[in-house]
Amino acid sequence: MPEQPAGEHVASWYAATAHPAPERPALVGELDCDVCVVGAGFTGLSAALHLAERGLSVVVLEAARVGFGASGRNGGQIVNSYSRDMDVIEAKYGAETARALGDMAFEGNRIIRERIEQYAIDCDLADGNLFAACNRKQLAGLREHQALWERYGYRELELLEGEAVKREVNSDRYLGALVDHGGGHLHPLNLVLGQAAALESLGGRIYEQSAVEEVIHGEPLTLRTAGGRVRAERVVMAGNAYLRGVLPEIEGRSMPCGTQIIATEPLGEARARALIPLGKAVEDCNYLLDYYRLTRDNRLLYGGGVNYGGEDPADITALIRPKMLATFPQLADVKVDHAWSGTFLMTLNRLPQFGVVNGNVYYAQGYSGHGVTCTHLAGKLIAEVMHGQGERFDAFAGIPHLPFPGGRLLRVPLSALGAWYYQARDRLGI
Ligand SMILES: Cc1cc2nc3c(=O)[nH]c(=O)nc-3n(C[C@H](O)[C@H](O)[C@H](O)COP(=O)(O)OP(=O)(O)OC[C@H]3O[C@@H](n4cnc5c(N)ncnc54)[C@H](O)[C@@H]3O)c2cc1C
Repeated sequence: MPEQPAGEHVASWYAATAHPAPERPALVGELDCDVCVVGAGFTGLSAALHLAERGLSVVVLEAARVGFGASGRNGGQIVNSYSRDMDVIEAKYGAETARALGDMAFEGNRIIRERIEQYAIDCDLADGNLFAACNRKQLAGLREHQALWERYGYRELELLEGEAVKREVNSDRYLGALVDHGGGHLHPLNLVLGQAAALESLGGRIYEQSAVEEVIHGEPLTLRTAGGRVRAERVVMAGNAYLRGVLPEIEGRSMPCGTQIIATEPLGEARARALIPLGKAVEDCNYLLDYYRLTRDNRLLYGGGVNYGGEDPADITALIRPKMLATFPQLADVKVDHAWSGTFLMTLNRLPQFGVVNGNVYYAQGYSGHGVTCTHLAGKLIAEVMHGQGERFDAFAGIPHLPFPGGRLLRVPLSALGAWYYQARDRLGI
């Protein structure tokens, strides 16, 4: 893959098929606003849009381009709920927290659909996603997952076993699958660009190539970039895995992780549908999971693996193509047109981190691999708490987060060792 010019979108299938968007100016000089948002991904733009809709003046500062981070290059899978199952949340954090989070588990998905409708955002929205079991233990886990969600009143899940899985995925790898008819997938870069345009239509201002280098605490706060300063009553920190060294208070209890995606050449409709007949998004249940789906132009977009610490592998295609062929050996003759990498933020308990620093810097981050829906919820909850309705934000903010074992120096090798152990268990089905 060719080198990227600094600050431009990574060369992905998404960047190649993005709708035209204006290049926003870099911040020069000084300005004032009610709320300054740092980072123009899903979290930042969801918060900005909710706040602008409530009539606040909002400035967004983005280090690179709108959607430069994980939001503009992810698998595009609309996965309901969180990266931890509700029974674990209930056991660790109590029934009240579990109930509060359970009540919000589908709201991110709803917000996305409302945004698409309300602002006429064209981003290839398609319905349905599924979780595929590679062994009996995973299949039993899917059964439990379905029963658990039925307890929370969610009835969109359908369990498929044995040959019935082929209705959805034409691969011999799976013993079963849990279909979420309420999930889906979309073109994430076009969604984030659409939300940026919506924000501007409400008077919000976005500056690109404007990395925040310093947060000067106070009332108001001042955010300093290379070219200017923004004074704001309140700040939303939404840099997630790409925020490095700006607000140490929120950076110590998480770990950036890389994951990679390839997109094949167009397969033609018949060949594409022979792989995933009903066009839903798929992820398997392995600890280091594979995730894939078809695109609007009938490519297979296949992602997999995690590298702790977020370093890019030298050859992404060499890493991901064998995973794709293990699922679909019938694609041995197919060319890979695009390959890219992105970084997400993992927390030790796999739940997102919400909080407030010094009473006026709000943050939400660390969605641990499933952030498409929860980022949209986070933005809404930040707007609520800034308007004195903090109950739902506090349900997340009250969850304790521990640092990764080994500290900054050893957390990467220790996590890789843990992943190796869980990967071995997945292979053995124990
Ligand atoms: C390859 C990949 C595949 C994924 N697939 C899925 C999936 O299919 N489904 C799912 O639910 N989740 C998926 N995820 C996770 C999901 O994409 C993320 O959780 C989500 O996009 C995080 O959004 P965000 O806005 O918080 O952060 P980001 O989208 O990463 O945005 C952060 C932004 O902040 C900016 N920034 C950072 N520091 C500064 C600064 N100092 N000043 C100004 N700006 C700054 C960055 O440039 C960036 O644009 C995937 C992630 C990756 C990497």
